[in-house]
Amino acid sequence: MTFQSIKQESALVLHSGGQDSTTCLFWALKHFKEVRTLCIIYGQRHSLEVEMAQTIASEAGVPFQVLDAGVISGLTDNSLTNANIIIDEEKPADSYPNTFVPGRNLFFLTFAAVIARTHGIRNIVTGVSQADYSGYPDCRDTFIRSANVTLNLAMDEQFIIHTPLMWLSKAETWALADKLGVFELVRNKTMTCYNGVIADGCGHCPACKLRKAGLDEYLKSITINNE
Ligand code: ZN
Repeated sequence: MTFQSIKQESALVLHSGGQDSTTCLFWALKHFKEVRTLCIIYGQRHSLEVEMAQTIASEAGVPFQVLDAGVISGLTDNSLTNANIIIDEEKPADSYPNTFVPGRNLFFLTFAAVIARTHGIRNIVTGVSQADYSGYPDCRDTFIRSANVTLNLAMDEQFIIHTPLMWLSKAETWALADKLGVFELVRNKTMTCYNGVIADGCGHCPACKLRKAGLDEYLKSITINNE
């Protein structure tokens, strides 16, 4: 199976309305014939994220589906779904930040695969990255490959999980958005911030810091290249 022939196929994009998954949505629009999005609610603090995802899907002209998986938030104690826990600003030396939602991507990929199958889609796109993130285990390439095999075995299907950002730094993800012609859209209409502030965000949560550092690095690199 070559990438050329995959171009004639459809893809389901896991879309949260953040920088990474929005970049993946436009990557998928470039590489697949038809694209649909799936936005999963898992009890996250900010419903604005879902509204952003819907607006972006509408601008991209793709079907938007929301799945309520709020049960996930009741299974675990983490600062993304429990407003009483203060979000870790730094990654603890010996563990994951308290924004880690155990099993999240395994749940997400399972839901995505079931829904993709219902629509006759085998390509699933997710914006996970192991190059430049908080070290969440379910963002690693090994996990994704393993989940892909498991989902294939579970449903006797040939799913292909695509992770276009897996090895990209945040600066390279900005570069990709620019290359896809959606730099301004990603910059102004996505929400990455753990405190629920769109675009450039609150400026001090770990997600904002990472996003800003990548943006600054990318903007600096294009300034140098243009000199
Ligand atoms: Zn923030």
